[in-house]
Amino acid sequence: MSEQKDLSQLGEFGLIDHLSEKFTNSNKHTLKGIGDDAAVISISEDEALLVSTDMLVEGIHFNLMYTPLKHLGYKAVAVNVSDICAMNGTPEQITVSIAFSSKFPLEAIDELYKGIQAACEFYKVDLVGGDTSTSYSGLTISISAIGRAKKDKIAYRSGAKEYDLVVVTGDLGAAYMGLQILEREKEVFKANPSIQPDLEGHDYIIKRQLKPEARVDVIHFLDELGVVPTSMIDISDGLASEILHICKNSKVGCHIYDEKIPIDATTSLAAIDFELDPATCALNGGEDYELLFTIKQEDYDKIKGNPHMTVIGHITNEQDGCYFIDKNGSAITLRAQGWNHLN
Ligand code: ADP
Ligand code: MG
Repeated sequence: MSEQKDLSQLGEFGLIDHLSEKFTNSNKHTLKGIGDDAAVISISEDEALLVSTDMLVEGIHFNLMYTPLKHLGYKAVAVNVSDICAMNGTPEQITVSIAFSSKFPLEAIDELYKGIQAACEFYKVDLVGGDTSTSYSGLTISISAIGRAKKDKIAYRSGAKEYDLVVVTGDLGAAYMGLQILEREKEVFKANPSIQPDLEGHDYIIKRQLKPEARVDVIHFLDELGVVPTSMIDISDGLASEILHICKNSKVGCHIYDEKIPIDATTSLAAIDFELDPATCALNGGEDYELLFTIKQEDYDKIKGNPHMTVIGHITNEQDGCYFIDKNGSAITLRAQGWNHLN
């Protein structure tokens, strides 16, 4: 008898593999289907469209107790724009589909759309369509983003080569620690609604959780510097999970150095407060929406000293495996312990 697997055993990525293995692409313009941050569709000899979809579900991805709807609308756009950036493309349009309870006040939907509009203005994308439905189980927002890129500049997850440098933008772990603070204050409030939330000193990490930004700026910097990443992904599930995606798709290994991982001081302080290792928050926290990419060694001089980019390791041979080198120099096998909504 064949072994029965349930959803939690498969995990999110196992399920996507399971569902997609029966499909093949039959259109010659489909250059990349399932398996990267966005699909790639040829539109001319040298240009391609990029298409990506992300869904935010109440109770799974956000809690309306502490998530302002305007921020939620902004974030829903930003996470989709981030997937276009992760292909080294420029976002141009979005569609927005929402489902919400018929008891939801119009003012609430207006707030959500104010955030969507602010993001459209900031990222210079046009809202070109969507769908509206009622829901019996909370608010759901599904956004698709469409972008454009020159074919020879598209950065796939599969292009990393041995000896390439591993680069990350911004700093990591902050969004996860912001979430821990918000969750803690939610519990305090539930226990005693007269206690005011204690968010002092946590502005940065809370903002990183509630209003993340897609790194469109980095895509422009890379273009100006004349650097085309050999591979790229955005960090939605945590550094460990994302570098493993790059390694698996590129058939390579990696060394990532603990001491090189950029972590903001306020993230570290909050982590220590929660008795967590800051590096663990960066590796497994997720929702940073920074970019993780690889570059050829010869491009190092072009990004050297750039305040937005940090080299955190290098690519090795596939047989060498994927390792995190801790501050004592010990090599620990990298494991993805990011978000797993199915568990
Ligand atoms: P990301 O974290 O960049 O948004 P995901 O991990 O959500 O990417 O998805 C990985 C790949 O699987 C993407 O190419 C995505 O389009 C595809 N995918 C996810 N869910 C489904 C699904 N239910 N059916 C088909 N493809 C899917
Ligand atoms: Mg992505």
